[in-house]
Amino acid sequence: MLVDTHNHLNFEAFDKDWEAAVNRASEAGVGKMIVVGTDIDTSLKAIAMAKQRKTLWATVGFHPHHVKALIKLPYARVQLAQITDQLKKMARGKQVVAVGECGLDYHTYQNSRHKHPDNGRDWEKLKDLQKQIFGMQIELARELKLPLVIHNREADMEVLDAIDHFCKKDGNVPRGVLHCISGSSEFLEKGLNMGFYIGVDGNVTYDGKVKALAKKIPLERLVVETDSPYLAPKPRRRLRNEPANVKIVAEFLAKLKNISREKLEQATTKNAERLFNLH
Ligand SMILES: [Zn+2]
Ligand SMILES: [Zn+2]
Repeated sequence: MLVDTHNHLNFEAFDKDWEAAVNRASEAGVGKMIVVGTDIDTSLKAIAMAKQRKTLWATVGFHPHHVKALIKLPYARVQLAQITDQLKKMARGKQVVAVGECGLDYHTYQNSRHKHPDNGRDWEKLKDLQKQIFGMQIELARELKLPLVIHNREADMEVLDAIDHFCKKDGNVPRGVLHCISGSSEFLEKGLNMGFYIGVDGNVTYDGKVKALAKKIPLERLVVETDSPYLAPKPRRRLRNEPANVKIVAEFLAKLKNISREKLEQATTKNAERLFNLH
């Protein structure tokens, strides 16, 4: 049995047929799936879905993409604190297995609703707000003793520095996963040293840099994920991704690591169950 540790069945792309996607995953041997929240609405939706299907679990979080909507507001920090309060209330539900996804995203998006501000001042403010809401979620994970689902895009060491910063009082770094691994090998190495698990997605099948990182991840820290509806693996790249495709990621990784498919499946499933306490 495989676990898809990160998907967004709660996104619009699955509005009409998320249950069919869950069924297809079960038929493909994907017995457990974690639906990841990226703001208040999608976190609520993830919980509602997990209540309906016993192979689903939920996370509650606020993704750095959504900070952009707040930069023009005069009291952005107050807003962030309110968001964190709502996440905290939701996180008490028994379907909720992690805080996140949260983190830092410094990618310069073109022609996208996530396009960053053009001027330097707003860009700095955006980064600052991303760090603030990330910090609040790190503190929440520590308080609730839940793992963190960590998103990084082109911020690498700043992500890990932020975690160090918010945990420096007592040095208790929450457990967690660096989801959808990318970035430098130093980032991967430091993340492993901090105790994190590493999530690998379908882009490992076509992105040489991700493949090189995946080779270096010890089996006892590896988890597999799809990030559906994004990042469909080869040969389904142009299609909507879905949890059943985590099987393709697992097969690819078993070949890459020169181990049997069964061994990879057992190890990643055990890791996912341990990290997220899926029982
Ligand atoms: Zn992400
Ligand atoms: Zn995601």
